[in-house]
Amino acid sequence: MQLTDTHTHLYSDEFDSDRNVMIQRALEANVTRFFIPAIDSNHTEAMYELEKNYPENVFLMAGLHPCYVKEDYESELAHVEMQLQQRKFVAVGEIGIDLYWDKTTLPIQKIAFKRQIQFAKKHQLPIVIHCRESFDEIFEVLESEKSKDLFGIFHCFTGTFEQAHQAINYNMKLGIGGVVTFKNGKIDTFLNQIPIEHLVLETDSPYLAPVPFRGKRNESSYIDGIAEKVALLYGISKEEVARITTENSRQIFGI
Ligand SMILES: [Zn+2]
Repeated sequence: MQLTDTHTHLYSDEFDSDRNVMIQRALEANVTRFFIPAIDSNHTEAMYELEKNYPENVFLMAGLHPCYVKEDYESELAHVEMQLQQRKFVAVGEIGIDLYWDKTTLPIQKIAFKRQIQFAKKHQLPIVIHCRESFDEIFEVLESEKSKDLFGIFHCFTGTFEQAHQAINYNMKLGIGGVVTFKNGKIDTFLNQIPIEHLVLETDSPYLAPVPFRGKRNESSYIDGIAEKVALLYGISKEEVARITTENSRQIFGI
């Protein structure tokens, strides 16, 4: 069995004390593919270091996270663009709109999101979307940028059945993480009505740990519990979930 964590911040400070042990635990739990979303230029070095230490397992994205779109966003976008020109990345992410933490930056968040979608198209890469309290705004941007070469993942999908369909219509797979194990997570009530070909698994570690670790630090080895929950919902084996969702991740990232 091979599991893929399509969204994990392994470079996070939260892992500074035990990063290698934690990654080893994931590898032993058959999680062998880690896709690493970017946040901003302050994290770039740590991401490269991670890739150097785990070249077979770690795959990097380039991007500016919506919560980090501030006054200096132009220079941050220039950094993203420069990286994309210099070397290989598997996606542009995580990008999008977050209206939970700061609504005042919405206009520049939209600009940054749009521009990064254009970077992705130019480099023929998928996008990885961060959407928090912003489905309408995200869909508005996706509509305006809609095309055959726009595709990717709706990371940490927490929307409704209708929103799931909308996302799929924009060539997006749904990133399913710890929320699917929550009692009030809601997506577990309709997920099995969506063909599993549209799903990928993720932890978003160190955030959003699945039950029974809810509220604690999350880590990539916990993908196993997420796969188990998805298997239960679809009435298939965990091995089958691992196989299909890993295949789906290959389709998106080309790796
Ligand atoms: Zn993230």
